[in-house]
Order: sequence, then structure tokens, then C-alpha cells
Amino acid sequence: MSDVVRKVIALSVIIIGAGLLWAVKTPQNEAEAAKNHTDAAIAEARERATSDDPRLKTAHREERGGWIYVHLEGDPSTIGFQHGYELGPEIEDAFAAVSAGMVHSTRRDWPFFRRVAREMLWPKIDSEYQQELQGIAQGLAARTGSQLDVYDIVAFNAFEEVPDYYVPWLDKQEKLSNAPNLKSPGNCSAFVATGSWTKDGQIVIAHNNWTSYVNGERWRIIFDIEPANGYRMLMDGFPGVIASDDDFGINSDGLMVTETTITQFEGWDPNGKPEFVRARKALQYAGSIDDYTRIMLEGNNGGYANDWLLGDRKSGEIAQLELGLKAYKLWRTKDGAFAGSNWARDPKVIQLDTPEFEPNNLETSPNARRVRWEQLLNENKGKIDVPLAQKMLADHEDTFAKKTDANERVLCGHVDASDRGVKEWAWSANYPGGAVQGKATDSAMAKEMKLVARVGHPCGADFEAKPFLAAHPEFAWQEPYLRDMKAGPWTRFAAGENSTAKK
Ligand SMILES: [Zn+2]
Repeated sequence: MSDVVRKVIALSVIIIGAGLLWAVKTPQNEAEAAKNHTDAAIAEARERATSDDPRLKTAHREERGGWIYVHLEGDPSTIGFQHGYELGPEIEDAFAAVSAGMVHSTRRDWPFFRRVAREMLWPKIDSEYQQELQGIAQGLAARTGSQLDVYDIVAFNAFEEVPDYYVPWLDKQEKLSNAPNLKSPGNCSAFVATGSWTKDGQIVIAHNNWTSYVNGERWRIIFDIEPANGYRMLMDGFPGVIASDDDFGINSDGLMVTETTITQFEGWDPNGKPEFVRARKALQYAGSIDDYTRIMLEGNNGGYANDWLLGDRKSGEIAQLELGLKAYKLWRTKDGAFAGSNWARDPKVIQLDTPEFEPNNLETSPNARRVRWEQLLNENKGKIDVPLAQKMLADHEDTFAKKTDANERVLCGHVDASDRGVKEWAWSANYPGGAVQGKATDSAMAKEMKLVARVGHPCGADFEAKPFLAAHPEFAWQEPYLRDMKAGPWTRFAAGENSTAKK
């Protein structure tokens, strides 16, 4: 056979093969294409029908610096509907990831969480927030056709309090012999400073959020909420959740709010009001440190127990509210600084609410970071401003090992890089968690309802899921949800951005 003939035959085989392949695949492709076409047409019709909904007229969404900024405005049900609609795809995605985590860590199924939401949480929620939560379910259904109902949304809103506070309490009540090792989380590094501590004598407040990277990569919403009642709010947040939840926010009456959680907190009051409701209510209605404290204490259920760091730009006063369940303590000053990195400091709170916490063990993440905050704030007394705060949130000084290292003991946490993990929070070696984003503001910016924020590690390092999972197959269960967490640029946000575009 000549080379030419051989080539012709070879080519024919390829062409005939391809033709056969095409012939075999076509009917299936057509069926698939037809189905996709129908699905797309239904989705488009739904979007067309609802995007004309008058409730959406005052809402606005835009994406910048890796963040999704949403403006929500109106009565509670309208705010909820706008939230559910504008963030519909993100809510579905976040719900899938968070609910999988809740079920995995507690070994309780989703119907359990729905039951908790319906029977325990729902009756304690103010009607204003019941309406908002119902609005979220409705807006979500209108946007994506989601089947999630209001009890799914309520259980999801309680993701910081039910799995790690209620469930361990319940496991104890039920005397479960094989109960999972559940610990209250250790979220965040933060400070608030005022008076002679800051450059301009006014308040500076800053916070980086520590969570699993699964949740943290999704914690990239900036909510600008203009409610019919109460103050306007600008806060970072999570899709589908009515409170900031990590928490960082300011309101139009001058309150500046953040927190870090109390490590090894234990306790729950089943008759209390959910923390996510109290936290949202306090940001919306508190015009002073006293108001804030009163609202957080009303129906305190012990869920997601935090050291709240507060500022009132009207008076220049700052405060730390250490909110245990059996005890609490409020410190306040017009000249000083309060820091948080997941440690309780009131002896009574430690004794009654965090009996296992070791305040003097400087090797642990909370205490090593406490030492670093003391160093940084003291060294920079009188110079603290927002740019400096951004640098502090990105700090990698390990005070216990006395070296620079991205690990679990530094303000910008990288627990995935530590083979120690954080046992106080039940984070095993190389747990994919740490500082996932940062925010800062000061009195002058807060007066104009402005803040700066960065997605991803505040130091700018990227987390890459694929090589991590290859190196740590013990976290393979997270694979469907764990994504790359790329750091964005520090980005400025203000309330009311582009809100005229739609009006
Ligand atoms: Zn870092």
C-alpha cells in the first residue's frame, strides 16, 4: 500500500468515526439542548416576571473588589424579599455549603435543624424579623425557584449558634456517650481605640473574620440596609443571613460594632432569643452603648457568645461587652483601646461560662494573639488610624515562637499551615480555616457611613483548594464546597452607592 492510500484510509476512518460519533450523540444532544432551553426559558420568564416586582425598585446590587454590595430598603418583608432575590444564587450556594458543615460536625440530619428552627427559635423571633426571614424565602424562590422555606432559612441563620452551642448542650442533656467533639468557635481578631490612642483622637475600629475557608470565601457581602424603622446600617455579611454575623457594622446614629467570640464557652438557654436576631436588632436600634448592651441582654440565649467591641462616635466613647450567659461584664472608656482575639478576661465569666479556658497558657491561638494586640496597640499609641489598622489585621508575628510565621497564633490566621491546629475550637491539624477577610473604619468615615474591606486573607495571600486537598485528604468531605480564596484589594464602600441608578 502506498503512503497516499494509507493516509486516505486513515483519514476516512477518522471522518467516518467522527460522523458515527456525531450520529450517535445527536439525539441525546438535542434532547439535552431542548431541556436546557426549556429550563433557561422558565428561569428567564421567572426573572422577567419578578424583576418588575415593585418591591425590587429600591434594591441595588453591584460587585467590586471581590465583594457583592447590596442596598436593601423598605419594610421588613420588602427588605427580606430584596435580600432573597438580589442574592438568590449566592444564598443557594452558601446554604448547600453551610448545611453540609452543620450536618457533618454534629451528626444530626437537616430535619433536626429545621425542627429546632420551627419549635425553639421561631417563636422567640420578633415579628419584624419573622417577616424579613419570610421575605428572604419568598425572594429566593422568585429568583431561583428554590424550595427552601422559612424554617430552612431560620436554621441557616442560626449556623453560628445551633451547631456549636445548642447541640453540645443538648448532647449533654441527652447524655450521649458517642457525642461528637463540638466546641464553640474562635472567630476573629479585632480592636477598637479612642482618645490619645488614635491619630485624630476619635474612634478607630477594625476586625478580621476567622472561619473555615468554606464559609469564609462566601462571607463577602456588604449590606447597606435602610429599614423603615430604626437606623440605617452598613455591615459586612453572609448571603441569606440577617445579621452581619462575623460581626462588623456601623449605624447612622453613630454606633460602631464588632466582636470576637469567647473560646471554650459552654451554655445555652432554650428559652432565649436567637443571637442572630439580637445582634441584628442591636445594630438597627441602638443609639448608644447602653442601648446596645440592653438589647443584647434581652433574652440572652448564650448562643454565639462574644466579646463585643463598641464605639459611639457621638461621644468618642468605646466599650467592651463580654457577654457570657451566667455572667457578663461591660468596660468603657473615652481614652483607651480594647482588643479581642477570642479570650474572656472577666474572672467571673471565665469561671462560670468558660470553665476550661486557660487564660495564662500563652501557647494558644487566643492568648498568643492577645499578647500581640497588646504589643501592637502600645507600640502605636497615638498613631492608630485606618491604614495602620489594615496593616495590623495582616500581622504575622507569632509571640509564642517569637518569629514571623503565617500560622494559627498570628492576627492574620492561617491554620491550614499549622500542624498544631487549634484544639480549643476542635480545629484539627491543618484545618482549612483562619482569617478570611478584614474591615476597618473610623469616626470620620462612619459619619459618612463608609468602611474599607478586603476579601481573603488580610495579608493578601491566596488560598488554593486543589493543592491543599491533595496534601490533606482528611478534608476530602469539604471538596464539593471548598474553593480557592483569593485576596482582593482593600476597597472602600459607602451607604447609598449608586442607589440613584435604579430610581
Ligand atoms: Zn496572612
